[in-house]
Amino acid sequence: MTVLVLGDQLNASVGPLADRPDDRVLLIESMGLARKLPYHPHKLTLVFSAMAHFRDRLRESGRAVEYRQVERFADGIKAHLDAHPGDELVVMRPPSYRAGERLRELVTDHGGRLTVVENELFLCSPEQFDDWAGDRSSYRHEEFYRFMRHQTGYLMDGSEPVGGEYNYDEENRQTPPEDYEPPEPPVFEPDETTRDVQSWVAETFDGAYDEPPYGGGWADPGPFRWPVTHEQALSVLESFVTDRLAQFGPYQDAMVADEWALHHSLLSPAINLGLLHPRTAIERVIEAYRERGVPLNSVEGFVRQVLGWREFTRHVYRREMPELAGANQLGQTEPLPPFFWTGETDMACLADVIDGVRARGYSHHIERLMLLSNFATLLGVEPQQLNRWFHAAYVDAYHWVTTPNVVGMGTFGSDTLSTKPYVSSANYVDKMGDYCSDCPYYKTKTTGEGACPFNALYWDFLERNAEHLADNHRMGLVYNHLENKDEGEREAIRERAEALRERAQRMEL
Ligand SMILES: Cc1cc2nc3c(=O)[nH]c(=O)nc-3n(C[C@H](O)[C@H](O)[C@H](O)COP(=O)(O)OP(=O)(O)OC[C@H]3O[C@@H](n4cnc5c(N)ncnc54)[C@H](O)[C@@H]3O)c2cc1C
Ligand code: SF4
Repeated sequence: MTVLVLGDQLNASVGPLADRPDDRVLLIESMGLARKLPYHPHKLTLVFSAMAHFRDRLRESGRAVEYRQVERFADGIKAHLDAHPGDELVVMRPPSYRAGERLRELVTDHGGRLTVVENELFLCSPEQFDDWAGDRSSYRHEEFYRFMRHQTGYLMDGSEPVGGEYNYDEENRQTPPEDYEPPEPPVFEPDETTRDVQSWVAETFDGAYDEPPYGGGWADPGPFRWPVTHEQALSVLESFVTDRLAQFGPYQDAMVADEWALHHSLLSPAINLGLLHPRTAIERVIEAYRERGVPLNSVEGFVRQVLGWREFTRHVYRREMPELAGANQLGQTEPLPPFFWTGETDMACLADVIDGVRARGYSHHIERLMLLSNFATLLGVEPQQLNRWFHAAYVDAYHWVTTPNVVGMGTFGSDTLSTKPYVSSANYVDKMGDYCSDCPYYKTKTTGEGACPFNALYWDFLERNAEHLADNHRMGLVYNHLENKDEGEREAIRERAEALRERAQRMEL
């Protein structure tokens, strides 16, 4: 019997690894997967280094681990079953679409048997979610989140939410003062194992993405910094609880030039690999509230993200695939502007965030939603192209989590997760960020040379999609504003938007 451990299931305390301590373990490192998309070098280093460290840790604890480095994942399965004919394998269900079924077919084709069991790295089981969701195909996060609070008892006082409210978002929309200096984010120096991985990643990457649209060199990796072991992931959690959690809530939506981490936890890369169980993160944060009096609006804000949003996206993806991946209800067809890869734009907000992604494969939530996705949506980018970019560019990205976030929330390609698109003009960027004062574009101008591209694109987006959106009662106010613009102004907006779309493709924005 063998426990098959996938690269995003690196946790020995749950599932078959914990239940079957005497069974052999199989890990497969597939080089071909590394070339499937133009993955950021830090993403590849993170995944392959974390796998190698996990292998070593299991061996040190006395487990028999077979670690197969192969071109294709299927080669690893074949080699295993050639060595152990007819073996019975067990694996936790991978969250990606049909991945469990494909694995079972692969093992069967090579004469083995695979049992797929529940993935214990999530907090809500498919049965639990399906009981809650029934036959609906349109889901509201707030309802699900409250359900999960009751199911788990986290931040509950009997049947009532601790503090009297489920949601403290109203207190969580502040921006930092001018002299703000956020805490230093944790960094982990690469050890020998990580350095070995870095070498082959550099070889794989060398020259691979020099042509358009990546031309100018996709990615500009700074020093590698992400946790690759359970202990390092725990230390990120500790530094979050000690240095950042108290202000996590108030500054959750803030954007600050040259500051990429603010008070975010930076835990998604570790949680998504299994290095840190979401339960550990939630319980440690609640303990800080109980024992150290960390403010409830910050604690609840964090619990909402992990207990609510993370579980929600996983299950909406599970139920709505494969349609969700291809959804494009607004019929958007523009290609992704090449500067998403190269960072070459004068738009100060986008340049800063894309440079950060090129350097470390990360930006925080509001930058993902209200800068990158917002801009691409206003421009008319096809959701699938943006989804592919997020999937390749971020260290925490996997198809099950980017797809609902990008195709559902970010671009409104589908209305399964939200009732209206997350779009805004420069107004929002200026309210929640400090980029505009150092930008060559004018945040208050809509048309004419030098006007902020967000503005004309915003009104043009509303006009182009009026048929789909104007009756939405949550958008009534903005459509009233649009109707108050005379035809001359509307025509100027259309022309400006068309020119911006062309300039975006020519890298002249
Ligand atoms: C367009 C877009 C793309 C995104 N792509 C990814 C992705 O590839 N991988 C990913 O893990 N998250 C993704 N997110 C969600 C969220 O932006 C990241 O989880 C978060 O920014 C990670 O940084 P952090 O760990 O510092 O998060 P924090 O702000 O500290 O939040 C805590 C944790 O909550 C969870 N979380 C919060 N929001 C979400 C969400 N919407 N979906 C799933 N989990 C959430 C994460 O595990 C995160 O670590 C995306 C969001 C958007 C709008
Ligand atoms: S003016 Fe426009 S492009 Fe410049 S930083 Fe502000 S929102 Fe971004």
